[in-house]
Order: sequence, then structure tokens, then C-alpha cells
Amino acid sequence: MPRGKMPRQPSRSGRQEGVRGRKLPSPKPFSKRATSGPKIVQAGKNARPTQSYDPLAPERVRQILAGLDRLYPDVTCALTHHSAWELVVATILSAQCTDVRVNMVTPGLFEKYPTVQDFAALEPEQLEPDIRSTGFFRNKSKSVVGAARKIVSDFGGIVPQTMDELLTLPGVARKTANVVLGTWFKKNEGVVVDTHVTRIARRLELTKNEDAQKIEQDLMAIVPRERWTDFSHQVIWHGRKLCVARGPKCADCGLEKLCHAADKTWSTVEIHKSAKP
Ligand code: SF4
Repeated sequence: MPRGKMPRQPSRSGRQEGVRGRKLPSPKPFSKRATSGPKIVQAGKNARPTQSYDPLAPERVRQILAGLDRLYPDVTCALTHHSAWELVVATILSAQCTDVRVNMVTPGLFEKYPTVQDFAALEPEQLEPDIRSTGFFRNKSKSVVGAARKIVSDFGGIVPQTMDELLTLPGVARKTANVVLGTWFKKNEGVVVDTHVTRIARRLELTKNEDAQKIEQDLMAIVPRERWTDFSHQVIWHGRKLCVARGPKCADCGLEKLCHAADKTWSTVEIHKSAKP
């Protein structure tokens, strides 16, 4: 060994020599974000938040999606249908009505009027008695007959497969178009925003908006596109089964630890006043 050089000894303090004063590598950007939980604040006079809660943190969104996969692994649209046209009709009828009720009405309806041409040949008043029990039957009759006529006159009797074309059909807005495109045509063009998705997205702080189109934009920005349709169905099922409008079943909910909703019925985490339906 050269004169004057000593072999390196382990530090008595447990720290390696030379660490003091050396700049430590800065944490990855994501590690600065909380995945869930309340804001953490340092005690003391000049207390400042050291870790801010971000409800849209990618890791939190991933955990919510994973939780939905565990809760609802194989869900699809609950509306009974055997064609794109039947799904258009069922979705129009499902506005302000339960899927169970719609599924009671549609089998007889499609037996009576098997094709889109049969519906196009009707006057709306003729359809009203058949769909009366789904509510808002006058408007729904106009929408169904109007959509049938448009499909026959402009699209050769075949339900179109693009958002722009679907939106030209009477009674079809983005929600119905997303259901048909995602469920029947397997195209992820958007997220279905109905009353369940609106409520749960707000409870989980995935949006602060109340307008359906803004909520859809918020969800499309954080949910991977390939999951848009499945995510929609999973959240709709969650809204029916557990995260119901009044008295959500939080004690049974697999998302409970990630949820800070103001109207939770049971909670192991801090409640956020802003997280409400
Ligand atoms: S914990 Fe309760 S409010 Fe939150 S998502 Fe689950 S059921 Fe809904």
C-alpha cells in the first residue's frame, strides 16, 4: 500500500463518508404527490404543506381503476339488445328510467316491430302505448321514430358508426352515442356520463363539474382511452350496487380508502367537503 494511504474504514455513525454536503438526487416528480389521504402539514410556526393531496394523481386514478376491476371484472351494458338499432332504442328509453324497466319493455317492442324500417313507418303516437311505462313516453316516441326515419333515409337502414353521424339522429346525444359506439361497435370515442357516473366521479373527486360534457372531458383526460367503455359500465354498475344516490354502502365498498366523499355513510379516511355528489 502506498505510504500515507489508509484503507477505507466503515463509518462509526453508519453514514458513508462524503455523504454530508453532497447533493442527494431529487425525487421523481410523482413521488411528490400523495396517492390518497389528507393533506399532511408540518407542525410549527411556519407550517407548510409538505405533501399535497391530488385527487387526480395518476397513482390514485390507477388504484381506483384497479378497484373497479376487482369489484366488476366482467361488466357490460345492462340493457338487453341484439343489434345496434335495439341498443339505440333501449338507450333512448333508459333516460330517467331504470334498465330493469327498459328490459321489461323492449322484448315485446322488438317482437312487435322487428326492424328499423318498422319503427320508421310508425307515427310517434302509435309507439306511445308500448313505451309508456318508461316515462317521458311522448318525447321518447318522437326520438325513436325520428331516429329510425333518419337511419332509413340517410344511412340505408344501418346504424352509423361515427360520433358525428350518430349525433345527427333525433334523441341521440353523446351519452347514447357513447353507449352504442363503445358497447356494440367496440369504439372508445368517449365516456358515458349518466346520473351514476356524474355522482360517483364527483364523490371520488375526479371532477368538480356538474355539466355532463365537462365531466366527460375531465374523465377522458385521466382514464386511459382503451378503458373508457369498460370504465363507464363499471361505474354505472357501482352506482347501482353500492354507491347509490342516498345511503351509499361504503362499508362494503372496495374503493372506500380512496374515497373522501362528504356523504359517505362510513369512513376510515378524512372526509372532504368538496367531494360530494
Ligand atoms: S366509499 Fe361510499 S361514497 Fe365512496 S365510492 Fe364507495 S360507496 Fe361511494
